[in-house]
Amino acid sequence: MNTDARHTHTGSCHCGNLRVSFTTGKSFDELSVRRCTCSFCVKQGAFHTADPAGQVRIEAADPGLVHKYRFGLGTADFLICRTCATYVGALFEEDGDTFAVVNVNILDNAADWPAPQPKTFDGEDVANRHTRRRASWTPAVAGV
Ligand SMILES: [Zn+2]
Repeated sequence: MNTDARHTHTGSCHCGNLRVSFTTGKSFDELSVRRCTCSFCVKQGAFHTADPAGQVRIEAADPGLVHKYRFGLGTADFLICRTCATYVGALFEEDGDTFAVVNVNILDNAADWPAPQPKTFDGEDVANRHTRRRASWTPAVAGV
């Protein structure tokens, strides 16, 4: 029997242009849901999850309709659909590697996820932020 079954959680923006799938071997109890306290995530009401051993795919039917918003240190693209204004998650790219966090709210099974825990990343410099994302975000394939 396969004891470490992987689960794929799928979701999309409201209009369906941006599609996200998050594959992980972790259960809901093992995954953290982070309520980042930065001003963007507070205004969005976004909750993030990630698994460094998992994989994320983010694809756009029309990449021209994806806004890549950057703020603060400007080290990640926060993906927002231009048609329906939904924020689906963020991408971080470095040295040819791509990593993502997913906004749990856009997943089809969002209601099943555990309650988010607050996390603050204020005070990180660029180097610390890159190191943390490499260690904690999910390896990603993106077509946006
Ligand atoms: Zn959309």
